[in-house]
Amino acid sequence: MLHEIKANQRKKISLATLLTGLVCLSVLLTVSILLVASYQSKKRSLIDTTLTLNFSSASKMSQTINSLFKSMRSSLQYSSSIFSNVNAMNPDEVYASLELMRHSSNYFNSISIVDETGLVRNVSPSSIGTAGKYITTEAAKAALASQKPYLSKPYIAASTNRLIVFMSEPLFDKEGIYRGFIGGTLYLQEYNILNMIFGSNPTDKVGSYFYIVGSDGHLLFHRDTTRLGENISANQVVSKLIQGQSGYEQMVNLHGESLLAGYVKVPENGWGVVVVSPISVVYEQLIRHIKSMLLYMMLPFSIFMLIVIGLARRLARPFISLADLVGKIGREHVDLPEGKQHWNREVDLLSTAVRYALTAIKKQTDQLTLDAMTDPLTGLTNRRTLEAIMHKWIEEGTSFSVIIMDLDRFKSINDTYGHQAGDEVLKHFAKIVTSTVRPSDVCCRFGGEEFIALIPQANAEEAYLVAERIRITLQNRDNPVGKPITVSQGIAHYSSHSDSAEELIHLADQALYKAKESGRNRTIIADIGGE
Ligand code: GH3
Ligand code: MG
Ligand code: MG
Repeated sequence: MLHEIKANQRKKISLATLLTGLVCLSVLLTVSILLVASYQSKKRSLIDTTLTLNFSSASKMSQTINSLFKSMRSSLQYSSSIFSNVNAMNPDEVYASLELMRHSSNYFNSISIVDETGLVRNVSPSSIGTAGKYITTEAAKAALASQKPYLSKPYIAASTNRLIVFMSEPLFDKEGIYRGFIGGTLYLQEYNILNMIFGSNPTDKVGSYFYIVGSDGHLLFHRDTTRLGENISANQVVSKLIQGQSGYEQMVNLHGESLLAGYVKVPENGWGVVVVSPISVVYEQLIRHIKSMLLYMMLPFSIFMLIVIGLARRLARPFISLADLVGKIGREHVDLPEGKQHWNREVDLLSTAVRYALTAIKKQTDQLTLDAMTDPLTGLTNRRTLEAIMHKWIEEGTSFSVIIMDLDRFKSINDTYGHQAGDEVLKHFAKIVTSTVRPSDVCCRFGGEEFIALIPQANAEEAYLVAERIRITLQNRDNPVGKPITVSQGIAHYSSHSDSAEELIHLADQALYKAKESGRNRTIIADIGGE
């Protein structure tokens, strides 16, 4: 039964577990909310910062390219004034000037002078080998025909198979007659003025990079040189650049990558600069942020949890000991614990209430036990207890004598003085018996006006002396009815008369009967062998 209860209890949640669990749950919840909130706000701020940063670097680069382009344009304009009458100039001097122009500024990878007929008059460096030939490319033809400052889209020059961008300035002589143009090129896939300024591998530590597109969306500058010249006008921000817009936004590029882009138009030539950071950069920073947050929170939360577990255990302990205590009632002897105060109000209330209840129960139980063991009228041991004591002593082998006493002619006392007076006589006799025997002897009201005294460690003769003392005391002492009262007594001894409690009483009763028979007011020891 008890095992069953304990096994059942094991399936249930303990107070300590419950409290720890609840606190754990609320801590987890708080931490999660904190982390989610911090993650969201940090993400927003990181995205915003990255976008703003990218936009500002795109703006700076756009300004740089703008001034660069202006300088390139003015360099060509200046040369166009010098070479306005190129036909009259010495070709070697022209070549020397072009070389000087190319090397001093590094703006162009090549510079050429073309006359109004489309004949290439001079080209620096001469290794290109187009000098003395007519122009073939669409861009050069368009430049020649336009008679205006010209900037091409990226295209592949048939003669050199290079991807180039070409810009030119028209030549007019003093009379204002069109004399051709001076043109410079940028070799997009080779070392040029752009990668001289921006570096050849434009990717920073965290993975951000930039690229430059032409006014129609062709790539002019990119970390992946194989993509130069590629038309990426379908790209979300490039299409906006083509429409003349600048700004920043989160976007998905043509390869499906999510990026944070800042994009700015270059006013001078319609090109666009795009600075992008992969969104993964933001997530990496976020994860680092969350990890460090968790690390900082771990120590205080662990200490907090330890305190809670300790408190929960201390709170649960009194409940367990109270349950133990209450569980013992009725099964074993219970000593009520000291009435210690508990710091928790509920625990204190409960333990005080249980202590009061237990004290009351104990009092009642003790009274009930006493009632069950004694005779209510005289307060002597009752018959049931007497028999139990006899059996116990026999089991232990303790030698003892039984004196059975019966008041003489008691019926007549009742009849003469009333039942009440009879009761008083019974109490009077009980007092005489208890005061005559030793405290270790057992005095019992066996029934009616019959009493038994058990005298341990006494043989029949010794018991006889005790019985005689009782008999004489009763005879001599004043009693409630004022008329002499006597008692007859029979004695039997364990183990000389019998080994059985019932038999001992029976033998003592027989002796008592003999005492009655032979005139009452006397004591007779049972015969050995029961004759
Ligand atoms: P004997 O000398 O042969 O023992 O005569 P007796 O009258 O004592 O014997 P009997 O057994 O005939 O009578 C016992 C009486 O005891 C009968 C009953 O009314 C009385 N008695 C039994 N129990 C009580 C009790 O609790 N109170 C009172 N007052 N009388 C009781
Ligand atoms: Mg009797
Ligand atoms: Mg009697």
